[in-house]
Amino acid sequence: MKGMSMRSPWRTIQLFISSQYAGIFEVEVDTETHDVRCTCPVWNKNGSCKHTAFVNQKMKYNNGHYSIKIPEDIPEDLVQEAIDDPAAFRNLIIKYNKVEVL
Ligand SMILES: [Zn+2]
Repeated sequence: MKGMSMRSPWRTIQLFISSQYAGIFEVEVDTETHDVRCTCPVWNKNGSCKHTAFVNQKMKYNNGHYSIKIPEDIPEDLVQEAIDDPAAFRNLIIKYNKVEVL
């Protein structure tokens, strides 16, 4: 995958289960430009999809931020690590954030 390094600004912020396609799709946001991208076939073809629309919509009503639904009792060091490391952040999302069905 392109640009997946420690310095990558891309963060996985939301997982989706699709009713249309088999599999789980991930929406990532560029923390610097706020661009979003998705791993689903529709996004690959069109550069936009209902998943990125969902995320964009939520960010629009939340001053450009996407709120993640994770439990409050997650260990602080885990959260700290996730802030610095995209892979750790992704693990946090996969493990704790609510998966949306869309
Ligand atoms: Zn998508």
